[in-house]
Amino acid sequence: MRLYLFADSGEACIGIEKDGFLYDVSDIAGDDMISLIEYFEDYREEFLEKLNEEDAKKIEIGNAFILAPYYNPQKIICIGKNYLEHCNEANAKPPSKPVVFSKYITAIIGNDDYIIHPEETNQLDYEGELAVIIGKEGKRISKENAFDYVFGYSIINDVSARDLQFSEGQWVRAKSLDTFAPFGPCIVTKDEIENPQNLRIQTRLNGELMQDDNTGSMIFKIPDLIEFVSRNITLVPGDIISTGTPSGVGHFKNPPRYLVPGSEVEVEIEKIGILRNKVKEYSE
Ligand code: MG
Repeated sequence: MRLYLFADSGEACIGIEKDGFLYDVSDIAGDDMISLIEYFEDYREEFLEKLNEEDAKKIEIGNAFILAPYYNPQKIICIGKNYLEHCNEANAKPPSKPVVFSKYITAIIGNDDYIIHPEETNQLDYEGELAVIIGKEGKRISKENAFDYVFGYSIINDVSARDLQFSEGQWVRAKSLDTFAPFGPCIVTKDEIENPQNLRIQTRLNGELMQDDNTGSMIFKIPDLIEFVSRNITLVPGDIISTGTPSGVGHFKNPPRYLVPGSEVEVEIEKIGILRNKVKEYSE
């Protein structure tokens, strides 16, 4: 299933996509996507019934005001340097174990929301990434069992202020400024994606293709990441693992190509969709 959070008359509603419509399942599952993720199997039958109801409440997807799937995960766990070609363009040695950092959840915005360009940076950049959505609490999860803990997949744009990133001892601030975590447009349940390590991933800046790779190019694959992170950190439903970006980020283009007010950036991942955001200047 393809799950969306959308706004209807000022209320957040959860919708399931079918034939170009979002079927409102808020009467079944409320408006809390993380709770839906946790109890999805209990709801599944009712959702399927809803999708077949003649007079179900639904809205054409093109007319829906799409929000981020949710704004309150306990963690956004990010993986750095996880594509070989991206290590190469950055002149960085491929890591021998996953590089883990975090984005704060206050940075989350939805599809079509604005990325705010703060005055503190002159090097605003995009990073298209496959987001793994955790469905069940777990610790010390083995690679073999890792997909039991995956609920589904989405897209994160790991927006980064490069000048801050490379002048500060930690990346967290440079990647956590408000609006720096575009997330969505939807969550696709894992049963819809046979092989998450074989998805084309592309980023376009003002329509121009900047990143174009396949999730199969990850150095550490999804089960490796889940095993590594969960060894000593408990994963809970709704946690997001953003699996790293392919080559083609703006900072390492010659000349560099940064996001500026008016830019439009689209991250597209096969079988998931397109996450599109424009950039605007910060104003009080
Ligand atoms: Mg990244």
